Amino acid sequence: MANSVPDNQIDYYEPIMSIGMVAQKLNVAVQTIRLYEQEGLILPFKTASGRRLYSMHDLTRLHCIRKMIRENGLNLQGIKRIFSFIPCWEFKGGLDNDCLNCPAYYSAEGPCWSLSKKGDKCALEDCRSCKVYRLEFHCDKLKEIIFGHERPVQNKPSEKSNP
Ligand code: SF4
Repeated sequence: MANSVPDNQIDYYEPIMSIGMVAQKLNVAVQTIRLYEQEGLILPFKTASGRRLYSMHDLTRLHCIRKMIRENGLNLQGIKRIFSFIPCWEFKGGLDNDCLNCPAYYSAEGPCWSLSKKGDKCALEDCRSCKVYRLEFHCDKLKEIIFGHERPVQNKPSEKSNP
């Protein structure tokens, strides 16, 4: 069974957790997870029968969403706006005419994967498999994702120059 797989032995992107398991891990109601999906913050995998499944990557994003709500006082509209600032074109080969004609380039309504209209490059792509949706979503990496800010590599103690 999916919940018998240790967290460190699973494919990070493999959808293996039910909505009930995810809700339990986050200590929220199942309806809360559904609401995040309705708002376009998360895209669960759907089986042929319509059952929703979530990966560890989804769970990381959900942790970030919960953190922004509980610790930063953001509401869902605010989080959608923040996600809309992700420069998806930077991760899809750079700005080109397709991007300039894509609603995601201009819209601040929500993340690109939540928009009903997409540019030609994305129209046929499964967003769950896209490198943009698969960006690492720890909350402390948001500036890195949005603005490309990279943290300087810290010297390890053994690499510091001797006095
Ligand atoms: S394929 Fe989906 S997630 Fe990827 S850039 Fe396009 S809309 Fe965004």
